[in-house]
Amino acid sequence: MIHDFLVIGGGISGASAAYELAAAASVLVLEAESSPGYHSTGRSAALFTRNYGGPVVRKINAASAPFFASPPDGFCETPLLTPRGALTVADAESLDHLPAILALSEPGEDVIEITPEAALDLAPYLRPDRIAGAVFEANVADIDVAGLHQGYLKGIRQRGGTIVTAAAALGLVHNAGVWEVRTREQTFRARTIVNAAGAWADEIGTLAGAQGIGLVPMRRTGIIIDAPDGLDLAASPAVDFVASGAYIKPDAGKLMASPGDATPTIAQDVRPEELDIAQLAHWIETETLIPVRRISHSWAGLRSFVADEAPVVGFDSRVPDFFWLAAQGGYGIMMAPALARLAAGILLGRGGDGADFDSDAISPGRLRA
Ligand SMILES: Cc1cc2nc3c(=O)[nH]c(=O)nc-3n(C[C@H](O)[C@H](O)[C@H](O)COP(=O)(O)OP(=O)(O)OC[C@H]3O[C@@H](n4cnc5c(N)ncnc54)[C@H](O)[C@@H]3O)c2cc1C
Repeated sequence: MIHDFLVIGGGISGASAAYELAAAASVLVLEAESSPGYHSTGRSAALFTRNYGGPVVRKINAASAPFFASPPDGFCETPLLTPRGALTVADAESLDHLPAILALSEPGEDVIEITPEAALDLAPYLRPDRIAGAVFEANVADIDVAGLHQGYLKGIRQRGGTIVTAAAALGLVHNAGVWEVRTREQTFRARTIVNAAGAWADEIGTLAGAQGIGLVPMRRTGIIIDAPDGLDLAASPAVDFVASGAYIKPDAGKLMASPGDATPTIAQDVRPEELDIAQLAHWIETETLIPVRRISHSWAGLRSFVADEAPVVGFDSRVPDFFWLAAQGGYGIMMAPALARLAAGILLGRGGDGADFDSDAISPGRLRA
């Protein structure tokens, strides 16, 4: 059988695009792992923040908001977003960073200045002597990433699409208008390839004979620790520490913390460095009142960026019927609904589906201009 579209990668990017495509075309998703959420999609901080990333990313986030607020009937059983709020705190030396964050405020997505006392009320584990200024963004929400991802995967199958796991694409050949994609056990055929391979997108591009987009996977570390006794986790916002880039947020009855690291690396099943974990635990005990008695889980994930930190979505200009859906950086979950609709619109020949952002700003061609 020749599929209309073969999507390489079953993370949130590939799953969401395949879901949108499957409404109108035959779609096959190939995923290297036995679980499609094994890489970046299953390792995120699960936040939806409208005022995050550069202007293009913020427009895409805005375009995703309606899907999160009201997903299609039957897509998921519980809401995709839970209000969280985000506090950004600055010490005396980093106070000058706050005006830039306040400047991102938009009507309905307000970022407001609050007093250090109000910040301590919201996050009582902060050290009063380390807080010289604070801003608060009420509209930040937790994303049910598993619910979103499963909704897309289930929807692909309901729409007649096929998902093959434990099937890494090893070779791509374009022959007489048909792509042949070889895995260890089979060869699959499709008219168009959608490259949604996350950190591996440049490797898939190379297999297809395309020029790379200069994708750099960046390692980010996370740990899970016990919350301080008596902390009301439901009412606790995510807290960003502007001086270091670290953040702390509630996560399933505990706290997640990250140093906000962005260490360039290669596409791989990335693991956290012991030194990063030890330094993070020390930082938490120095900069907050949280005792780190036990680290119940630690991990690292990849956030993959190109030079301008905007995603790469569009047909390759030189390799026929080869479409990039890559470089989602640190925003791939929150951008997924809008990027998937945009990608499907282009792939199905419907244009950008009324997207309110310039598709040139995300096209692969911009990187070679
Ligand atoms: C610590 C951390 C915090 C983050 N926090 C947030 C956040 O709060 N909000 C947010 O929106 N985003 C966040 N992100 C970013 C987000 O996780 C990513 O942008 C997103 O998951 C990228 O999804 P993806 O589908 O492109 O990549 P992936 O989930 O990595 O999926 C790519 C898939 O391609 C598969 N693949 C690779 N090569 C092949 C091949 N040859 N054949 C078949 N399959 C292949 C891989 O196995 C993988 O499953 C965070 C990331 C990290 C690491």
